[in-house]
Amino acid sequence: MEINGKTSVCGLIGNPVEHTLSPMIHNTLAKRLGHDLVYVPFPVAQGRVPDAVAGADALHLLGLNVTVPYKSEVIGSLKAIDALAERIGAVNTLVRTEGGYKGYNTDMEGLYRAMTVEGIRISGEQIILLGAGGAARAVAYLCAVKGAEKVYMLNRTPGKAEQAAEEVNRSVGRQVIFPMATEDHATLPEGKYLAIQGTSVGLAPHTEDVVIPDRAFYEKIHTGFDLIYSPWETKFMKLVKEQGGKAYNGLKMLLYQGIIAYELWNDVQVSEEDAQVVYTKLKEHFAN
Ligand code: NAP
Repeated sequence: MEINGKTSVCGLIGNPVEHTLSPMIHNTLAKRLGHDLVYVPFPVAQGRVPDAVAGADALHLLGLNVTVPYKSEVIGSLKAIDALAERIGAVNTLVRTEGGYKGYNTDMEGLYRAMTVEGIRISGEQIILLGAGGAARAVAYLCAVKGAEKVYMLNRTPGKAEQAAEEVNRSVGRQVIFPMATEDHATLPEGKYLAIQGTSVGLAPHTEDVVIPDRAFYEKIHTGFDLIYSPWETKFMKLVKEQGGKAYNGLKMLLYQGIIAYELWNDVQVSEEDAQVVYTKLKEHFAN
């Protein structure tokens, strides 16, 4: 593209940002939709988030994504925050408004859109959620808000799952999240579950790691969704498939969180056809 005096700039703040796939998502969309926009990653050192957001505002950046480790910290630098992002306590997208940025959480809407596209239902489902970190807590909100029947939240540190469950249940006004220690997984009631893997275990290069190695656990799972997308097929996904379940990785979640951010910045609707073009490009990246 040719950059000119009217080119809009969007970007990503985080630390590290070197391996991000977000420029591929946004620059592909801009090219395909004919928008005069460029997307750039910006590494931000610890303690400099307020400076980075104020600087972006001063430089008239159209929007920013926020990644690890600043998704909660950035909230203190916003002019406004969307209600869902506030409940989750994490922001991954900033949209320019008069006088400052408004924060959103498109990770969760991204996961929901990815699941919808794959035909995975949350409403009425019995769900096992592995993890109680930033991502898993947001998934717990999503499941509660989208009408899951019961969500068993299993974590290595049970106190974190208890705290997250308490917050989500209070926020939605019903008992839907049930915290457990991961080591107690054999006591889960019999049944067939949707399982969402929201820990960082299994992430490359530790591709043989999995939170629950016991094969019997996977007999209870009809569908497994891992938030991790590198490696392409995690050990968790392999174990789900070996017991006859369907398994998905987190690449479509990444795709749609980016698409929703792009839609917010540009006030457009991205078609499924355009989404597929970006997805193919992301997939090719993993094939190489
Ligand atoms: P986080 O806040 O650091 O939480 C990490 C979670 O993993 C905690 O529940 C932690 O348990 C658990 N964990 C870590 N090491 C463990 C071990 N050795 N054994 C058992 N449990 C362990 O991380 P996060 O931000 O929630 O991210 C979690 C994963 O989601 C990451 O892999 C990230 O890449 C992925 N993610 C993907 C997308 C996407 O677009 N696809 C978006 C967001 C996140 P404790 O509480 O006991 O420490």
